[in-house]
Amino acid sequence: MHVPLIVQGLLVALLLSAPYFWKRVLLGYNKNLFSCTRCGGCCRDVTVPLTQEDVKRIEGAGYRRFYADTWIGTKIVLMPGLTCFFYGDGGCRIYSIRPQICKEFPFTKIFGFIPYARTWYYCKGMQEMRKIIE
Ligand code: SF4
Ligand code: SF4
Repeated sequence: MHVPLIVQGLLVALLLSAPYFWKRVLLGYNKNLFSCTRCGGCCRDVTVPLTQEDVKRIEGAGYRRFYADTWIGTKIVLMPGLTCFFYGDGGCRIYSIRPQICKEFPFTKIFGFIPYARTWYYCKGMQEMRKIIE
């Protein structure tokens, strides 16, 4: 049976990434062990999408012109000099009303219910957590 090259490539990529997938799920299920070190890694050189509620809440606090519109019609926080518009004085200036994605970071839920670690590459808290879990 002839398997197209693209399918072979996808299968190889899936097999290679599987251990990382399960590692991220394991971290997700143990998220109560996570502790943010406030390193600011997630506030630099990242894309921070905003929900409509985020925009409403932050504008309600008096902030304006803090986002850009994307070509697909969504909004993302401006990153002047590759640092988040809201980052300052060693932390988030809108911590209590920060965007939803920032509240969830470095975790998310895949398919809406499987806890999942987004990254450990620039998140010091996640790197510390990996030392406990793995
Ligand atoms: S809104 Fe706050 S927590 Fe979110 S990326 Fe910007 S500075 Fe960081
Ligand atoms: S990168 Fe991780 S440890 Fe650093 S501030 Fe963000 S969530 Fe906290």
